[in-house]
Amino acid sequence: MSGSTTIIILGGTGDLAQRKLVPALFELVYRGSIPDDLRIVCFARSDYTSDAYRDFMWNKVREFHDLAAHGDAWRTFAQRIHYVRGDLSKPEDWGALKQSLQGLDGGIDAPANWLFYLSIAPWLFEPALRNMSAHGIADETNGWRRVVIEKPFGHDLASAVALDNLVGQVFDESQVYRIDHYLGKHMVQNLLVFRFANAIFEPLWNRNYIDNIQITVAESITVGDRGSYYDESGVVRDMVQNHLLQLLTLVAMEPPNIADSEALRNKKVEALQAIRRHSGVEMARNTVRGRYEGYLMEQGVPPDSITPTFAALRFFVDNWRWRDVPFYLRTGKAMAEKVSEIVIEFQAPPHSMFALDAGETIPSNLLRLSLQPDEGIHLGFQTKSPNTDLASMEPTNLEFHYKSAFGDLSIPEDYERLLQDALLGDASLFIRNDHIEEAWRIVDPLIEAWSDLEVSPLHIYPKGTWGPDAADALLAQDGRRWRRYH
Ligand code: NAP
Repeated sequence: MSGSTTIIILGGTGDLAQRKLVPALFELVYRGSIPDDLRIVCFARSDYTSDAYRDFMWNKVREFHDLAAHGDAWRTFAQRIHYVRGDLSKPEDWGALKQSLQGLDGGIDAPANWLFYLSIAPWLFEPALRNMSAHGIADETNGWRRVVIEKPFGHDLASAVALDNLVGQVFDESQVYRIDHYLGKHMVQNLLVFRFANAIFEPLWNRNYIDNIQITVAESITVGDRGSYYDESGVVRDMVQNHLLQLLTLVAMEPPNIADSEALRNKKVEALQAIRRHSGVEMARNTVRGRYEGYLMEQGVPPDSITPTFAALRFFVDNWRWRDVPFYLRTGKAMAEKVSEIVIEFQAPPHSMFALDAGETIPSNLLRLSLQPDEGIHLGFQTKSPNTDLASMEPTNLEFHYKSAFGDLSIPEDYERLLQDALLGDASLFIRNDHIEEAWRIVDPLIEAWSDLEVSPLHIYPKGTWGPDAADALLAQDGRRWRRYH
């Protein structure tokens, strides 16, 4: 069934809507990447008319994006935006929202598609979903109905299962799009192409040739004024359960037979299922947690907090491909740089025919997949230095940078890609409920172990560094070190 399409942003006045969602929709419309008749309905309690809301949003998006030259384009775009005021916990306000949507569609029976985006605090998911159920929002008689759910998907396995049950009472799984914006990153998608559309890497992509894998997602910012929110979640819920495990699955997964969303997501879940579970003592041996100096002084952080802002973890994926290859994951706030990258360290040559100095070895090849800031791929290899003997080698890089390779073709922002896919009904880059639950099964024991300072000490690290020394010691135990591009 065709018909017009409306995206309804619940929480339309919030930070995410201002910084990401509305700018992404503007960009998609500007590039002609979504249907001409797409409407955007923003819903929240603040008192705006549609015109006042458009002005509010124009002022906000310009704080985050340079749109000085795009005033005319914005005014055209803004005509698609409508504001509906209401409280999503009140059934009567849902009645009014539904009426407004049907009015915009041209009548109760007009063919029309609705995409609901839950850009609201997690505790509002339940009233929103209950009211959606009461108002038959998921009924697809007149067109498709979809819902996009923002992280966090619960705060542990039990709450994730409870949320899923609730979602499942309202929507069929095929209507649900759980978002992890990391999957919208171009380089993350390119990892699939890199692995599965090139025959030269996949034969090496296993325990026979790879020594270890390192995944770093570092933020240079502190928790800022989000201290009370952050302290409730901490680094494992904020970053490991979602972004880092997503990246791990994409590196570790087996090739799906077809690029179909279910086939792809099946393989990702299998990879998660293969992650070795550590018991209490092993957990302490394989993990390091840290907190940046001054965290307790941040606004909203309780003085007796033991919430970590840094994690370094050693995981193993127990299957034929990866048995005993360590996957080192690290992430934190207030770190030296904002960087996200995956480093594949290949095994060093087993024997050197070159006359090396005593104790010298040939360095291993490093393949670096850089997600940010400079999306690209670097393959490090040894070359002979000119005018020297054969044993004088220099490490060199084969490099690919998205920005220079594709020139003017701008790389879509994470949310642009994901919104476009949700509108097209492609769920490949969205997370299935079994993935989320498996990820909680992995991190719940970690959170539990880390609640005991005796089992796992909290290492303090200075701001602007790569975390506590203990994170280096974790790799040093294995005779390895963290690898960085420069
Ligand atoms: P936010 O700035 O606090 O915005 C919350 C929105 O909900 C506001 O528009 C607020 O508007 C609306 N709201 C609150 N209570 C309501 C009610 N009873 N009825 C109707 N609307 C209500 O939050 P946010 O940062 O945008 O985050 C939204 C969601 O996205 C959260 O789940 C968050 O975890 C997730 N997320 C955010 C980011 C980000 O960068 N911000 C990134 C990833 C995930 P009124 O006060 O006008 O009602």
